[in-house]
Amino acid sequence: MGADRVRPGGSVSVPLSWNRFPRGAPSRVQKLDCRQEPLPPLNGAANRLAYGEGRSYGDVCLNAGGFVMRTRGLDRFIAFDRAAGRISAEAGVTLDELLAFLVPQGWFVPVTPGTRFVTLGGAVANDVHGKNHHRAGSFGHHVRELEILRSDGTRIVCGPDENREWFEATVGGLGLTGLITRVTIELKPIANAFLISEAKRFRSLAEFWDLNEAAERDWPYTAAWIDCLSANGRGVQLAARPAPARAALPAHRARSLSFPFDPPVSLVNTLSLKAFNALYYRKPLPAGPAFTHYEPYLYPLDGILNWNRIYGRLGFFQYQCVLPPDASREGIAQILRSISRQGSGSFLAVLKTFGEIPSLGMLSFPRPGATLALDFPNQGDRTQALFTELDAVVVEHGGALYPAKDARMPPKMFKLGFPQWERFQRYIDPEFSSQFWRRVMEL
Ligand SMILES: Cc1cc2nc3c(=O)[nH]c(=O)nc-3n(C[C@H](O)[C@H](O)[C@H](O)COP(=O)(O)OP(=O)(O)OC[C@H]3O[C@@H](n4cnc5c(N)ncnc54)[C@H](O)[C@@H]3O)c2cc1C
Repeated sequence: MGADRVRPGGSVSVPLSWNRFPRGAPSRVQKLDCRQEPLPPLNGAANRLAYGEGRSYGDVCLNAGGFVMRTRGLDRFIAFDRAAGRISAEAGVTLDELLAFLVPQGWFVPVTPGTRFVTLGGAVANDVHGKNHHRAGSFGHHVRELEILRSDGTRIVCGPDENREWFEATVGGLGLTGLITRVTIELKPIANAFLISEAKRFRSLAEFWDLNEAAERDWPYTAAWIDCLSANGRGVQLAARPAPARAALPAHRARSLSFPFDPPVSLVNTLSLKAFNALYYRKPLPAGPAFTHYEPYLYPLDGILNWNRIYGRLGFFQYQCVLPPDASREGIAQILRSISRQGSGSFLAVLKTFGEIPSLGMLSFPRPGATLALDFPNQGDRTQALFTELDAVVVEHGGALYPAKDARMPPKMFKLGFPQWERFQRYIDPEFSSQFWRRVMEL
């Protein structure tokens, strides 16, 4: 499942990130198998970095010229307290594996990104958020304890009540404080594998803000799909909550298709985008609340394996920004106008508001305000020119870009958006580095 390029002989040679850009960064890959072992020696390599499932878009999980340590071998469950709803597992365990074990026992992960094919280590290192941020905060809020293995062989156990400063550096710490070996999280109880969901169309951004305010009051999961080609920001507001216990539930058959080949050019272009967005906007919506299995609802893209290939060999970018509450309305409108004018963007543009719960990590991305995320095919200078225009709006409105979705933000923009970067530097393991970090620090 990892986003690797596999050599004909079968050995993994060059790890890629999910958007397949930047490409071809040579790094030596090591597979880790046991959290009890010390880190493998550098053997002349400049530095090292952990790599989970490569579900980041960009270069936070890449390390050209250094070692990349694949963590999927750290795949053991360590302890499960069924009564209290608490689980400890090695950091290479994925949310998919956790859910397969937990859901039949009446528990769910407290926060999940839009794909379940991420590791626990990756979820911590990017302090990932989900559709329930306004109620639950981000992943780090639910971590009770984790262990970091440093390259000098020391192990630091930290959490909200122990070695707190190491915890704040490691949650959202972009994998730079050392190898996360194990993680303990608190879970959420569920009655079954279903959600009750509701969908409402909106014709403009003004309508969205009203709908969203009401939805956040009533529903723990909310997010909106937005038609990035429509100048006034039409879309569909989606909301859900865990379904109550009920005798009769709809049947669910897990389905997965796979996108079969690498097209030479992106299949996402202005024409296909226009057609998709018009169809999606007009698709019939259920008249009232409906029962939906958590898989298609929380992970719509996981149903199509390798969907990232649709953008062709040049790959794509995701642009995810957050703007503070008082600047959100104007800033998001400005960003959407720029995107619509250029006629690019993606089928799945997501708009959501983060809640007020302050993030724990020094470099965590979630903060109060509105976040917009959308993909762009890599069209070279044309795409970069649009990003420069969008960056100016984000900076002007006091916002930030999400490092987990970034392959190109200017160093100055990172430092403005993450003012604790200087404090964070003290906690970096001297043998750890990433392409992202060297880029934004201009090292
Ligand atoms: C379809 C899709 C939807 C997504 N939706 C969301 C979303 O809604 N919200 C959101 O927040 N994100 C989202 N993401 C991004 C994704 O959740 C994050 O990038 C996540 O961190 C990827 O986890 P991974 O295990 O693949 O880690 P990788 O991408 O392999 O690595 C990410 C970072 O974690 C570090 N890392 C990984 N394992 C360890 C370890 N054991 N010790 C130390 N550092 C480690 C790496 O060094 C790197 O810095 C989405 C991604 C996709 C593909």
